[in-house]
Amino acid sequence: MPTRILVTGGAGFIGSRYVRTLLAPESELQVTVLDRLTYAGNPANLASVRGRPGFRFVTGDICDPQVVDRVVAEADEIVHFAAETHVDRSITGAQEFVRTNVLGTQVLLEAAVRHGVRRFVHVSTDEVYGSIADGSWPEDHPLLPSSPYSASKASSDLLAFSYHTTYGLDVCVTRCCNNFGPRQFPEKVIPLFVTRLLNGRKVPLFGSGDNTREWIHVDDHVAALERVRTAGRAGEAYNIGSGVELTNRQLTALLLEDCGADWSSVERVSDRPGHDRRYSVDTAKIRRELGWAPRRDFRTALAETVDWYRRHDSWWSSEANRGLLPRPPAA
Ligand code: NAD
Repeated sequence: MPTRILVTGGAGFIGSRYVRTLLAPESELQVTVLDRLTYAGNPANLASVRGRPGFRFVTGDICDPQVVDRVVAEADEIVHFAAETHVDRSITGAQEFVRTNVLGTQVLLEAAVRHGVRRFVHVSTDEVYGSIADGSWPEDHPLLPSSPYSASKASSDLLAFSYHTTYGLDVCVTRCCNNFGPRQFPEKVIPLFVTRLLNGRKVPLFGSGDNTREWIHVDDHVAALERVRTAGRAGEAYNIGSGVELTNRQLTALLLEDCGADWSSVERVSDRPGHDRRYSVDTAKIRRELGWAPRRDFRTALAETVDWYRRHDSWWSSEANRGLLPRPPAA
């Protein structure tokens, strides 16, 4: 009997990449995607697997106990991506983040216990640790989230572990650094900057531009998630990172170069409130225990990503046409 995997949020950026990987041509897995199709969910991201015998798409909300009960009853394992994910949106409206990220995760966990799900991978973020001036966080570092987004993710991490401790649910939590790659909704910095620069528009750089992020290609994140799903230890957190750190100014310089633009295309905008200075995860555990390591060369992967957006303007201009992108900052 093939393993039946429920993927929540599988129409989004990382979830859809994960589903396409699970359903590689020789795969015998059965994959059900549960996705509410919010502004960030795009069915076109799953076009290549639609029609595959092992694939099923269910439009539904992870906060809805009835739909969740129905799909979890037919799942052996769950990989949980569904979330509200944009920090800036969480600052202007946190409620939806608490609803989906906290309540939605709890509804899934409860159904997973009820139906004896064998493995629950909760996809979380390095942002739960807060900001770190020097060095890198190990998995047992205290959680000190700064934004409503990261606070809601930290809350869901704790809930996930509580279902392991209290009910014996086989839970793994992953905490990855910033992802980039094709099909990322163009509100996040890399696709936002690339799509604007390719359209000859200006891009907004927060504050001093000194904030530092660690960047990983989505394919490396997806490969790590597969290692965790298939070999992770129950009740454990695994950091996922590349070690590639850039200030936002350095990242902007690379994107300007790849898009054929210069610094006249950059506007300084006032800093994000509560903006974390630096993130950095210690990945010794996943490397040692699960033999995972990132493979993609950052500079090559970034250039390929820019090229993907250049060649797929129909994908992102349809997003822009839906009127959902943040307005350009005031001049
Ligand atoms: P995304 O915003 O691109 O996609 C989120 C998906 O979840 C969408 O398809 C959306 O329709 C769906 N969704 C939202 N609310 C839902 C609900 N109530 N019920 C069902 N589906 C719902 O997100 P992403 O960037 O692909 O991130 C996926 C996961 O990975 C998130 O949990 C995020 O916290 C985590 N993560 C993201 C990054 C990153 O850099 N993007 C880094 C680390 C961790």
